[in-house]
Amino acid sequence: MPELPEVETVRRGLAPVMEGKVIARVTVNRPDLRFPLPERMAERLTGARVMQLRRRAKYILCDLSSGETLLIHLGMSGRMLLSGAGIGRFHHAPPLPGRHDHVVIEMEGGARVTFNDARRFGAMDLAATAGVEDHWLLRRLGPEPLGNAFDERYLAGRLKARASAVKTALLDQTLVAGLGNIYVCESLFRAGIDPRRPAARIAAARLGALVPVIRDVLAEAIEAGGSSLRDHRRADGELGYFQHRFQVYDREGAPCPRPGCGGTVRRIVQAGRSTFFCPRCQR
Ligand code: ZN
Repeated sequence: MPELPEVETVRRGLAPVMEGKVIARVTVNRPDLRFPLPERMAERLTGARVMQLRRRAKYILCDLSSGETLLIHLGMSGRMLLSGAGIGRFHHAPPLPGRHDHVVIEMEGGARVTFNDARRFGAMDLAATAGVEDHWLLRRLGPEPLGNAFDERYLAGRLKARASAVKTALLDQTLVAGLGNIYVCESLFRAGIDPRRPAARIAAARLGALVPVIRDVLAEAIEAGGSSLRDHRRADGELGYFQHRFQVYDREGAPCPRPGCGGTVRRIVQAGRSTFFCPRCQR
């Protein structure tokens, strides 16, 4: 499932193809994804200029000259594929229409952006740009983990009444938006915090140390995604998935990578999700 860094990488890959350009043609191949697609979607998008592509949590927001914003969520398996002319040094032949190509956006100049989603947990909607932050999919989201509102004071305040494990609390999108299973595991490892520890029972100083760790882990993953855009764009033009090197995530049984620890990475299940951690150096 794409998390914040993958979505940011998709946004960065789409920006040069879409920003400042007019949408020439839109093909909508089905009435719904996770939710119904907006009414007259193709008509409302066609002819509009893309003013800017933004990201809020795991949503890509595409502001249009029409005064509307296209919200895009990749869900579990959503993929953005680039093809056609006008996408820089990457020229992908127009692919045969895929079974799961649900929405195809053709830009002026010939670049084509295809939203492909086998499991259809993705979502798209159109809403007025003014007030889009109050859209029902966005309004309950907590602060961005890379933004200024997410700091030690905020985190300590939100966690002080939480009986749940810190790992589970950090996955709550109303607490902090866009953090997912992978980067929570990696951040807690790097901060040396036991994911099973009750959120309310972590000292403020340790939470203070966790905030920059979360930012670093996300920033490094975004940077890795940026290199993947430059060097390894896949032959089919897919954006946003790149070779991660995780320290604990998906490494059950591997030696703890912390120098001198000597522990072994363990997997447990918390709130239905796998947690990977080192029981020896995470306290
Ligand atoms: Zn360890």
